[in-house]
Amino acid sequence: MEKYRGRSSATAMHAPEHRNHSNNFGHRALVVVTNLRKTYGTTVAVDDVSLTVREGEIFGILGPNGAGKTTTVESIAGLRTPDGGTVRVAGLDPRKRRAELTSLVGVQLQASELPERIKAREALQLYASFYPNPADPDELLERLALTGVRDTAFGNLSGGQKQRLSIALALIGNPKIAILDELTTGLDPQARRDTWELVKQIRDSGVTIILVTHFMAEAEYLCDRIAIIDAGRVVALNTPAGLVDAARGGERISFRVQGELDETVLKALPAVDSVTYETGRFVVTGNYNLLVEVVTELAARGLPPRDLHTEQTTLDDAFLALAGRDFEGANR
Ligand code: ADP
Repeated sequence: MEKYRGRSSATAMHAPEHRNHSNNFGHRALVVVTNLRKTYGTTVAVDDVSLTVREGEIFGILGPNGAGKTTTVESIAGLRTPDGGTVRVAGLDPRKRRAELTSLVGVQLQASELPERIKAREALQLYASFYPNPADPDELLERLALTGVRDTAFGNLSGGQKQRLSIALALIGNPKIAILDELTTGLDPQARRDTWELVKQIRDSGVTIILVTHFMAEAEYLCDRIAIIDAGRVVALNTPAGLVDAARGGERISFRVQGELDETVLKALPAVDSVTYETGRFVVTGNYNLLVEVVTELAARGLPPRDLHTEQTTLDDAFLALAGRDFEGANR
């Protein structure tokens, strides 16, 4: 069982889970992290993290800077020794089975970790030599749209090309699991979109992906399930839709009407919780059926709503509900 903060909404965030029927991933637990704890001196990097990554999914680890995301995935990759709790990857303890783990888990290098003068193809060939059963460097270059720059020095690649090369290096050992950390930081919107499509293709080719990000839209777009981590703890774990649904306190719509409308008419509708009238607009809250009931009632009275707005709940709202502060604010 994961432990949560004492906010009542946190429990609701976990159940029921919404299945993503578009993905045929299995349910075998490939990575199981139980009560992971890691401190650096007096800094508690990871306080208590439990999560399970299933085979074939894109699993997001989302949270503000300093939340403990990188320490968590480095523990999964066997690069950190936990102070408490356990990590199992395909049943193996990453610290004790280094050799097997290296072929099982590919970790994306931070772009800055390569020498400026190494050429794209050379880097892939070099890394291929470290693995017992590597992918073909030329095929990977092709797949990641890097064939045209295979003889270009790393220092002369664009930001998007460097990022794609770092993904290629994560995949060169033919891993079952790829850990991608802050994948699209610093990329322009087009390069970011292209990278997202690439990540989906990699998953479709059978690689399970753990994606670390502090970027909401990325997690929402790419991930099958997301663990939201804040201050070293999992505060929610669900599908993107599940997180948003659980955060949704209710629907809210606002509109004007031309003509006279008594608030009590709206208040009498079963889906409606509250009605206020501010500066010429009705603001109505209620359950999922709110919009249909209100519009039907108004139409029946010959008072079609004008300038109708509905409010969409986002992952930002989910984070706000869980952590008690807004996500962008937490990142500052
Ligand atoms: P995130 O990836 O969510 O930004 P990290 O796991 O990198 O978070 O860091 C969590 C906390 O642990 C931060 O306060 C960070 O400063 C601290 N930390 C991370 N790595 C080290 C380290 N090697 N030595 C000391 N403190 C560290």
